[in-house]
Amino acid sequence: MVFDTHAHYDDKRFEGEAIDIIASLPAQGVCNVLLPGCNVESSKKCIELCENFDYAFAAVGYHPSEVDENSDIKDLEIIEELARNKKVRAIGEIGLEYYYGKEFSEKQKVFLKEQLKMAERLSLPVIIHDREAHEDTLDILSGYKGEGVIHCYSGSAELSKRFLKMGFYISFTGVLTFNNAKRAVEAAKEIPVERIMIETDAPYMAPVPFRGQRCDSSMVKEVCKKLAEIKGLSYEEVANITTQNAKRLFKI
Ligand SMILES: [Zn+2]
Repeated sequence: MVFDTHAHYDDKRFEGEAIDIIASLPAQGVCNVLLPGCNVESSKKCIELCENFDYAFAAVGYHPSEVDENSDIKDLEIIEELARNKKVRAIGEIGLEYYYGKEFSEKQKVFLKEQLKMAERLSLPVIIHDREAHEDTLDILSGYKGEGVIHCYSGSAELSKRFLKMGFYISFTGVLTFNNAKRAVEAAKEIPVERIMIETDAPYMAPVPFRGQRCDSSMVKEVCKKLAEIKGLSYEEVANITTQNAKRLFKI
């Protein structure tokens, strides 16, 4: 059984279907799922979607892609209230997104720093989004005392060592299965399996052989399969270890 540590079932592409999909997961070999929030509304919805399932958990946070001229830092107070719900096991997804939205990078940094402090206050781990912002992310995280995971890891093996040194887990998506994903495969080879988690980032990043389709948590098995191949371990071994890693970090 595998743990999908990152799936956006509040996304509109799952409208009307999210509950049925989450309900179907155990029968498909997925033992747990974690739904990260992206703003106040999305975070509320993630908690709501998890409520009927003892194996589904939520994170609440303000995603860097949501940070623009209209973003109100006061929303973080509502996020902090939501974080006290027993379904919430992390602050996320938070971080820096420079591919789209570099013009708001200074504001993104403020939101990230405030949410790291929030995670420390609440003793919750963080789920970090870092797209084309490695140095700034490392710089800000160096002042953070808690635990967390770098989600949808896109960096090099070299860079991963710097995150590992800070105590972070590294999480891989279906990108690992892509033909042109040499850098991700190289990183996965180097990172000890005890520090790795797997995820879908559904509805995005559908792995081979489902590329281009709407991704859901059942497809996390393809990520597990690929990681087993890279590590020279069995599917069951990788499923067990990555699930234990996630359960340890999210206190499940
Ligand atoms: Zn995400």
